[in-house]
Amino acid sequence: MARDRKRQRPNILITGTPGTGKTTTSSALADAAQLRHVSVGDLVKEKSLHDGWDDELQCYVINEDLVCDELEDLMDEGGIIVDYHGCGFFPERWFDRVVVLQTENSILYDRLTKRGYDGAKLSNNIECEIFQILLEEAKENYQENIVVALRSDTVEDVARNVETLSNWVKNWQPVS
Ligand code: ADP
Ligand code: MN
Repeated sequence: MARDRKRQRPNILITGTPGTGKTTTSSALADAAQLRHVSVGDLVKEKSLHDGWDDELQCYVINEDLVCDELEDLMDEGGIIVDYHGCGFFPERWFDRVVVLQTENSILYDRLTKRGYDGAKLSNNIECEIFQILLEEAKENYQENIVVALRSDTVEDVARNVETLSNWVKNWQPVS
């Protein structure tokens, strides 16, 4: 069965509060390390892996089972970067590295305002970052030694994070 085969390339989860640079970092890393970037938000939209639109939260109600079914074969192959602002519902065995991007509040505030966020949606996301919700969620769901928090305030940070992560990918070896 395919599921018993060991993947030859690592899978990485890139998570963090919206606006911390997940998509920017994932797509640069995908180029640098020749991995495949999967934006879960885009996938949900494209394949309708949701249970409708939440008017209050202004986002799709993601169907976690459908998303996991959709990704299972890809993750089994390996070499995937998953980009999503949550990490609690993916199978733990999928990932070799879980990266939590973090951004200073005033910088994040400006990025989200530029994206058109305001009101509760803006303040919820800023609070999410202040309380390090994603880092906590990552530590709760994955072994601490695979979870890494990386600063993402500047373009230099993106370049450095991409370099660090591509070196890690280069040196990764399948667990025997
Ligand atoms: P996410 O996918 O986490 O929501 P994005 O990658 O879409 O975040 O980035 C949101 C915006 O902030 C984009 O305009 C992007 O260019 C910018 N940005 C993201 N990370 C950084 C960074 N480390 N330094 C400067 N600008 C950044
Ligand atoms: Mn994104």
